[in-house]
Amino acid sequence: MNKILIVEDEPAIANLIRTALEGPDYRCTWAADGIAACDLLERESFDLVLLDIMLPGADGYEVLDYCRSLEVPVIFLTAKGTVEDRVKGLRCGAEDYITKPFELMELLARVETVLRRCGKTGRVLSLPPDIEIDTAAHTVCRSGVPVALTAKEYELLLLFVQNKNVALYRDRIYEKVWGDEYLGNSRTVDLHIQRMRKKLGLEKRLVAVYKVGYRLEV
Ligand code: CA
Repeated sequence: MNKILIVEDEPAIANLIRTALEGPDYRCTWAADGIAACDLLERESFDLVLLDIMLPGADGYEVLDYCRSLEVPVIFLTAKGTVEDRVKGLRCGAEDYITKPFELMELLARVETVLRRCGKTGRVLSLPPDIEIDTAAHTVCRSGVPVALTAKEYELLLLFVQNKNVALYRDRIYEKVWGDEYLGNSRTVDLHIQRMRKKLGLEKRLVAVYKVGYRLEV
């Protein structure tokens, strides 16, 4: 889970970005001006800032300076689209520069790339007390001992660990892990969860939720 600060004075654009990013991977916070952004940066830690340039309060370049002092990476997201603007933005130390209007897919890809490059993507996820998942190596250890999971079991585990204490519906689980439409008559989800849960000793923690699906209790 990465925390992203969106600094944007137009609510509609801020909402669009937020809707595109929000999910198991990112949690977004919105600041509508440069001063509010700096206040938030002072109080909370963020993994990335998506920063507009023309802003009330303090402009994007000033906020960028503040971000750099805190070593928080910045992607400029701005209507200032000339080559001079881009060069200035990158020279000032932004990790990337996206001009409006932009495609959401492109935004997502660039966010991912910058987070990875800056070492902000959590490589190891843990499920206390005994389970660790290395998301780069795709390996899972229980009390330090590797556990062999199938690809689907691994994806299932990841989904639950990224949604701790959330009851996940069978159809959502199926669509996320199998990438296909759930037709409601399949025992596939149950079978894979039962096997994964047994291999990892999660029988008591990964529980069935009546008429819904499953929940990982932490
Ligand atoms: Ca603006």
